[in-house]
Amino acid sequence: LQPLAAGIGDLGARMNAAFAELKIVLDEREHEIATRTESLRNAVAELDRLSRTDAMTGSLNYRGFTEAGERLWQAARETGRPLSVLALDIDHFKRYNDLYGHAEGDSALRRFAGAVRSALLHADDVLARPGGEEFTVFLPDTTHAQALLVARRICQRVRDADIAHAGSPKQRLTVSVGVATLGPADEELEDVLKRADAALYRVKAAGRDGVSA
Ligand code: GH3
Ligand code: MG
Ligand code: MG
Repeated sequence: LQPLAAGIGDLGARMNAAFAELKIVLDEREHEIATRTESLRNAVAELDRLSRTDAMTGSLNYRGFTEAGERLWQAARETGRPLSVLALDIDHFKRYNDLYGHAEGDSALRRFAGAVRSALLHADDVLARPGGEEFTVFLPDTTHAQALLVARRICQRVRDADIAHAGSPKQRLTVSVGVATLGPADEELEDVLKRADAALYRVKAAGRDGVSA
């Protein structure tokens, strides 16, 4: 029986070695899968962010705008904290394109967005470009009086950007801003957006390059 026992002992040792080897391979695979899962997760998160971002200006796009708007509206409703909205529209932008061309127009839009962003001092302020040369700013936790100050600062920063516009009476790019703040009678976000748009229209009618509430 001795040779048989020795054979079994040898077999056991070889099986242990094989198991140890298998364990190393499995651990390596597990690590590889975890690494790949992590990079896939990052890629999905990046795609998710890009699907809400306007590639030209880095602002939120229309999709990001509607989602952020709904989220901030719900939060303001639940907490009772104020929420203000700014409707921005660049003045005489059609003339700008006509004078300087569409590519220059795009470049002006990027500089404009940078100027607006520089006027937003709170990390949770949101800049969106729902379309064309029209932008929306959501100001969470911001009263009407504070929102008016932000709107004036935006106008000033855009003037300071000093983007030459020979077709504008001001000779540089300017913006009109309408301000509205969530009130108790508002039933949906659209109600506030409409008031901001109506205020914006009044700025345009009064000669542009300014703010109205
Ligand atoms: P107002 O002061 O009344 O706002 O005049 P406006 O010329 O800015 O208004 P209008 O709505 O007539 O023209 C908007 C222009 O914005 C026309 C369009 O060609 C231009 N525009 C919209 N989106 C883009 C864009 O992505 N790139 C460029 N270059 N131009 C754009
Ligand atoms: Mg417009
Ligand atoms: Mg315009």
